Amino acid sequence: MNAPAIRIDNLAKRYAAPKGAKGAEAEGKLALKGVSFDVPEGSIFGLLGPNGAGKSTLINILAGLVNKTSGSAEIWGFDIDEQRRNASRAIGIVPQEIVFDPFFTPYEVLENQGGFYGIGAKDRRSEELLEAVRLADKRDAYARTLSGGMKRRLLVAKAMVHSPPILVLDEPTAGVDVDLRRQLWELVKELNDEGVTIVLTTHYLEEAEELCDEIAIINHGELIAHKPTADLINMAREKIVAVTLANDVPAAPTHDAFHKVELTGERGVEITYDKDEMSAGQVLAILQAQGLTIEDVTTREADLEDVFVQLTSAS
Ligand code: ADP
Ligand code: MG
Repeated sequence: MNAPAIRIDNLAKRYAAPKGAKGAEAEGKLALKGVSFDVPEGSIFGLLGPNGAGKSTLINILAGLVNKTSGSAEIWGFDIDEQRRNASRAIGIVPQEIVFDPFFTPYEVLENQGGFYGIGAKDRRSEELLEAVRLADKRDAYARTLSGGMKRRLLVAKAMVHSPPILVLDEPTAGVDVDLRRQLWELVKELNDEGVTIVLTTHYLEEAEELCDEIAIINHGELIAHKPTADLINMAREKIVAVTLANDVPAAPTHDAFHKVELTGERGVEITYDKDEMSAGQVLAILQAQGLTIEDVTTREADLEDVFVQLTSAS
């Protein structure tokens, strides 16, 4: 077993209350309530949760932008308090908000960042990084003239200037169109293929399902699940069988073991059932026993969306 790329141990954050806050508000917002998990080296790790769950708070603690209240974290084996410099050098962060000085060009943005990390002019990788994020042709354009997707890609390049082994992306594709989302996914996969450990937060479950090896879900500042993506999807108990019947349905079929029955059109019925209680074959047998003739059948597996809803609505 390799040491984890990131180790988070009982991390908690309470934000200071706004001035003059009264009642419960005077205590300040407890945004993280003691969260622990490891990010394996070489993985693409998804941090999921609804808005306000505490994802950015956690990322910003790793980035050194927010002070934790208690707990500890290690990045590449370096404690974020005791060895802050080394910890920072091991991680590149793409923040949720896009911020650039509009009068710098992509090339200058990367050169300045290289200077910030004390990388000598000869050793900088600005051209190579612009190439990697497909912005070589925008090398000398002002940042303000770039599209949202281009700015996002430039932020990825900026986070990689010091060649960190870990790249963290906070909501990289929020508000990005489908094509650009695909491009960013390709870029993330390429970097991961080259050995970079990736952590991304997202509320697009399709994105997590497509990219991530492992997923942690937080809700109201608490870790509510952490599993390999496939295992997490398997947690969904419900499955759906959709049938088209040979004749119009006079009334919806019923059975104690059906969780939900929906009529879809005149001859369509969708039955939701618990896959641990019965099989699709048994569902069909019950329908046939009720005198229904089935013309066509499809089944739908639960996806990450179903699991996410199941978990976050329970807590
Ligand atoms: P997420 O990124 O998952 O949407 P955040 O980490 O941004 O969640 O926020 C978690 C909670 O902490 C929210 O209730 C948010 O309003 C609160 N919060 C975030 N930043 C601050 C801050 N600087 N001061 C006070 N409360 C904050
Ligand atoms: Mg956030």
